[in-house]
Amino acid sequence: MFDKFHEECGVFAIYGHPEAANMANLGIFALQHRGQESAGIASADSAEVYCHKAMGHVADIFTVDVLNGLPGDKAIGHTRYSTTGDSAKLNAQPFSAMTNKGRLALAHNGNITNAMEIRTALESEGAIFSATSDTEVVLHLISRSRERSLPAALRDALLQLEGAFSLVLLTKNELIVVRDPNGFRPMAMGQMEMSGDRISYVFASETCAFDLMGAVYMGDVEPGEMVIVNKGGLTRERWAPRRKLSQCVFEHVYFSRPDSMVFGRPVVQTREAMGRLLAKQNPVAADVVVPVPDSGVAAAIGYASESGIPFRMGLIRNHHVGRTFIEPSQAIRDFGVKLKLNPVRHLLRGKRVVLVDDSIVRGTTSRKIVRMVRNAGATEVHLRISCPPTVSPCFYGVDTPTKNELIAANHSIEEICRYVEADSLEYLALPNLKDAVVDTRGEYCYACYTGEYPTDLVSVESLIGEKSQRG
Ligand code: AMP
Repeated sequence: MFDKFHEECGVFAIYGHPEAANMANLGIFALQHRGQESAGIASADSAEVYCHKAMGHVADIFTVDVLNGLPGDKAIGHTRYSTTGDSAKLNAQPFSAMTNKGRLALAHNGNITNAMEIRTALESEGAIFSATSDTEVVLHLISRSRERSLPAALRDALLQLEGAFSLVLLTKNELIVVRDPNGFRPMAMGQMEMSGDRISYVFASETCAFDLMGAVYMGDVEPGEMVIVNKGGLTRERWAPRRKLSQCVFEHVYFSRPDSMVFGRPVVQTREAMGRLLAKQNPVAADVVVPVPDSGVAAAIGYASESGIPFRMGLIRNHHVGRTFIEPSQAIRDFGVKLKLNPVRHLLRGKRVVLVDDSIVRGTTSRKIVRMVRNAGATEVHLRISCPPTVSPCFYGVDTPTKNELIAANHSIEEICRYVEADSLEYLALPNLKDAVVDTRGEYCYACYTGEYPTDLVSVESLIGEKSQRG
């Protein structure tokens, strides 16, 4: 029924800006790394809610003409990584629908783990769905609520949801921003001073979206909090009781940009700390520390500074690899990785290399990169991974394959080392990852490394089974 129950996304929202859609365009452009399949913006003035979404990259979709068709002083934006296939366009966000609470536009980052159950119940009562995304369920629940005001109806809906959701909701009159009580996915809040002492409020999955427009980061929307912005100003209220937090550690490991603050902490600080701790944990005699760009750069800088081994950009990344590149010949093995990365032979020849990357998922990329570095003349390749082995799929919004496809779920570190053909392989130990994010109060989710899920997953259990059979 659902294409997949993990979607990687970036969301943005702005209120009180004369060029709201243009700002949303800049915002989701800065969040492009969080999803490259589809993007959308909904804007609103006091008369109407407008929406445009399409498959592809933000810069290609939002031309001047398209942006001119999105008037108003408030807007929300979304970038989405989705499955391929016919349903992908249907699932592009924001979702916009006419309800008994007026026209709503909604964008979502995360994964509602009981969406399937809710949808089945609604369908049995005659509800019609146009997409296969879990986000549409929220619109139905809002519409069906007997509460008259939108915030109250939204609260009604939210109380029925389980899992991960950072949501932005737009109407003609107001913007509402919400985080789930576990705080799985981030949502930063910022502001811009406008003329006449007015303030424009901005919200984004990551603070890198604020920098381009000069907005100032003011902190996060709290887990279990609803922020409402309308003519009366900004109000904050709790819609759910406090819960133990489960902030996604993978945001710091890989997903977020290093120039962002996520969960109130600079991502680059975490990544450099991961590298330093990895060097302390597993030192090795080597000549150069080489990152797998871009994901391994900050951790490699940390590893180099702690170990005293020089940092070298021994792999160069081509940032312009399109999705539809036509392979000249199937016979060229490793073509995909070669398109993206090229070894700097001058830096690698005759060297003992510490190769640093953020994670190993299936193991296929690491194997190709180790081979590439060795073919460039490295005498030894020691692979260092700045997180623990990924042993369990994520059900809270990160795209991970089935357990069967996760190499570390089924193989020992020695076996993985042999598979990727490295001279040695070490992963950052879990206690060190906790130190790197300074998690002294147990406020992060580590389920992909431990298999211990912080919420009930009753409704996805059948899917877990289905996934492992498919895998
Ligand atoms: P592989 O081991 O071949 O499956 O690929 C692992 C690489 O994919 C890692 O080095 C990461 O840079 C990247 N990666 C890890 N998790 C994700 C994710 N959820 N979405 C996209 N890329 C990822």
